Amino acid sequence: MSSMAIDLGLTFDNSYFEELEGFYVACSGDRAPSPELVKVNRSLAENIGLTNTDPGALAAVFSGSETPVGALPLAQVYAGHQFGGFTPQLGDGRALLLGEVLDSDGKRQDLQLKGSGPTRFSRRGDGKAVLGAVLREYIVSEAMHALNIPTTRALAVVTTGEPILRTQYLPGAVLTRVASSHLRFGTFQFFSARGELDKVRQLADYAIARHYPGLKASRQPYLDFLCAVRDRQAELVAKWLLVGFVHGVMNTDNMTISGETIDYGPCAFVDNYDTNAVFSSIDEQGRYSYNNQPVIAQWNLARFAETLLPLIDDEREQAITKASEAVTGFWDSFHRFWLSGMRVKLGLSTEEEDDLALCEQLLESMSDQEVDFTLLFRQLADDLASGNSGSQTLFNDAEHFLRWRESWLARLARESLSTAERVEMMNGANPLYIPRNHLVEHAIEAAEQDSDYQPFEQLVAVLSTPYTPQLDADDYARPAPESFGRYTTYCGT
Ligand code: AMP
Ligand code: MG
Repeated sequence: MSSMAIDLGLTFDNSYFEELEGFYVACSGDRAPSPELVKVNRSLAENIGLTNTDPGALAAVFSGSETPVGALPLAQVYAGHQFGGFTPQLGDGRALLLGEVLDSDGKRQDLQLKGSGPTRFSRRGDGKAVLGAVLREYIVSEAMHALNIPTTRALAVVTTGEPILRTQYLPGAVLTRVASSHLRFGTFQFFSARGELDKVRQLADYAIARHYPGLKASRQPYLDFLCAVRDRQAELVAKWLLVGFVHGVMNTDNMTISGETIDYGPCAFVDNYDTNAVFSSIDEQGRYSYNNQPVIAQWNLARFAETLLPLIDDEREQAITKASEAVTGFWDSFHRFWLSGMRVKLGLSTEEEDDLALCEQLLESMSDQEVDFTLLFRQLADDLASGNSGSQTLFNDAEHFLRWRESWLARLARESLSTAERVEMMNGANPLYIPRNHLVEHAIEAAEQDSDYQPFEQLVAVLSTPYTPQLDADDYARPAPESFGRYTTYCGT
């Protein structure tokens, strides 16, 4: 590699480095033995102004081997409640914030490498990532983006040429991800737990300026900040439930202040509707099950609120009252987002008081029916369009569902939308393609075992327009074959 620093064409503007000394340690990545560029997300690259297209240069930078012009790499410190227990010291143990850039909309974006080597926060870990996990995060985070769900994004995948020991040796890789920031609930918890109130205030001011600038002029900015984060998290979790997403590891260090989904470790989408769905091998109690996600989001929010108490009011009792009210409000906020999302999924353009009951009855009719969550909503629209009733064939016993269908049709009849308008509305909200677990695994296996990236590329392409039927893509819309069996996911793989 030449000694000239690599210029990616990016204009870095590193506010975290410049403004938050003491919140990170400066460090750089490991030199990878033979970095190779596997994937660049072209549209995202364009959006952030990445103009360098030289694969060698991109592989060198996105493996962490070379620091590009303008970057000031660092590892952030944070803490977090993991499965309910507090760990006072976490941090970027296998990640490196390269720096920040302004995208084409003028929005500040973090560029982070994941898997670029150990940092001061690695504890007993090796700081590395394996190809399978990197591809998984790429596929699922980009799918979430296409589903209009706030999320970190995937910019690049590089293999390092270094075998990494897990249960066996696996190919090492680095993911470059883009996020509107990597501020977490756990970042606040780290300083709060150490009694460093000035730092909590500094962080809150930074977060408000970066994510909620409208609150700067507020008379109670920190309480409003808590409410704003609450509403973004409520909307996020509602959107997860509406597509059948199970995050799998909703520890407070994996909850962002921006309201973006972060850390696609043990996540998965449900195929058959199951309120108790759990995929993660270590979530034995079902703490992070499908239906428990709003409960946990609120619990996490309470932990975040605790860090802000001294900023909310000098009087502790007063602060607790105000913060509790804000946290309690999570439930209302969540239900509002969830119900308005369900209305669109069911083609409802007006609001009626009984809509919540109508939605809940549908879910009840789906319970224990082994009905594919994604396909059912598409089928409801197809049935409207065709006048058929294919949806009932998705149920083992459709009796309850058929009664529900009568009330739904009666409800639709009280609206003035044409069938065509309604079908369009529903198909614009109900994806045909989601990252089905068997497809994700197939893509990973082909890449890991045969260096065949075709299944990965095709899956990413199909998932980029999830609402539009695509030619020769029927297989991508189908549930897993019976032989795929129960699906288990793993953290930090
Ligand atoms: P996660 O499960 O990805 O949210 O990670 C939780 C914590 O463990 C974070 O502080 C990570 O940086 C750290 N961590 C996870 N995997 C590794 C690894 N291979 N090496 C070092 N630290 C890790
Ligand atoms: Mg994490």
